[in-house]
Amino acid sequence: MRTTLGICNRKARYVTEDEAWAVVHRADIVLRPYRCALCRHYHLTSRTKGMRLRAPYRE
Ligand SMILES: [Zn+2]
Repeated sequence: MRTTLGICNRKARYVTEDEAWAVVHRADIVLRPYRCALCRHYHLTSRTKGMRLRAPYRE
């Protein structure tokens, strides 16, 4: 996924994937954490199309 700087700055940022998953599990909608190439932390996206759920992120 390509992340723009604007999206990176605007989104909530999670230091660890576990932290991001904790938020995902509390949310009512389907979210997926992804590693941000810009800040090297995690953001959440509701766009899960083409993503394998729970698949580990690979660079
Ligand atoms: Zn970011």
